[in-house]
Amino acid sequence: RAKDNGRGSVCTFTADMNLNVVERMQLLSRARQAFDRQSFTLHYQPQVATADGRVRGFEALVRWTDSELGPVSPDRFIPVCEDSGLIVPLGLWVLETACIEAVGLGCRGAGDVTMSVNMSAVQLAQHDFVPRVLEILARTGLPPHRLELEITESQMIGSLDAAIGKLNALRQAGVHIALDDFGTGYSSLTYLRTLPINTLKLDKAFINDVHRRPDARSMVLSISRIAHDLSRSVVAEGVEELAQWEALSLMGCDLIQGYFVSRPLPADRIDAFLAAWEERRARLPVARDDVV
Ligand code: C2E
Ligand code: MG
Ligand code: MG
Ligand code: MG
Repeated sequence: RAKDNGRGSVCTFTADMNLNVVERMQLLSRARQAFDRQSFTLHYQPQVATADGRVRGFEALVRWTDSELGPVSPDRFIPVCEDSGLIVPLGLWVLETACIEAVGLGCRGAGDVTMSVNMSAVQLAQHDFVPRVLEILARTGLPPHRLELEITESQMIGSLDAAIGKLNALRQAGVHIALDDFGTGYSSLTYLRTLPINTLKLDKAFINDVHRRPDARSMVLSISRIAHDLSRSVVAEGVEELAQWEALSLMGCDLIQGYFVSRPLPADRIDAFLAAWEERRARLPVARDDVV
């Protein structure tokens, strides 16, 4: 049920409803312990250019395997971390770790790849959010244009002006902003116009039928046209098949992210992925010059 409603506050609410008070307290206490013991990790999922298949960046996704509970999905523990405030230090750790990884990748020959990092509404609402982000960039040495912060529309509700002010400040410093999960929950074309975003991420729900159903195709085609008219780039999430890639390419989507290219990877497997991908890419029958 929570999944159907998309992410953000609705999702948080339903996720909370699914866990009883005891379960929530248990999850939070395990998460606090995991944070103190530094047992959260990050996985990285590549984003490739639709036109030529080259790797342009990665999205950092937090992972946690508890010794008793086993692997816990971020869809389950992020809402608990948000409600308790643990997301603030956890989010700073995620950001710093992802920036360090991006710098390392560049040094190892991956080029100017970008790093996308998910931001929670609770983080964005912190009064020192902007200086904290800038401080981490300065400390890690990642050029601001190589960082992309992912936010969702539901995070804007309630404090739109404050959020826009902060996002503008970050954009002025060169940081990129992406609107995540577009097409679920509260998606509105107004946000596409008014939020200072560089990138629109089309949710997997939009992508699922894009190669099979004309109505899904028209939606993606129209949204990507609007996005391009507004000078936003378009990323398709949850691409699992070559046929989806081909359809998205014809519809002008700029980047592809999904299991078709790779599942999210632990840091120590990125270099092997990059090498293997170059070989696979050369054999892919993807559109190159006939992009709309
Ligand atoms: P998201 O930011 O929309 O991330 C995309 C999710 O889709 C990830 O799930 C990813 O593993 C999954 N995915 C990617 N490609 C495919 C595909 O081809 N097929 C399918 N079925 N799934 C695919 P994950 O890692 O479980 O993360 C879930 C959500 O948790 C994320 O959604 C994001 O909203 C949140 N999250 C993850 N890491 C962080 C974090 O560091 N901070 C915050 N605040 N939220 C995070
Ligand atoms: Mg994301
Ligand atoms: Mg998403
Ligand atoms: Mg999502």
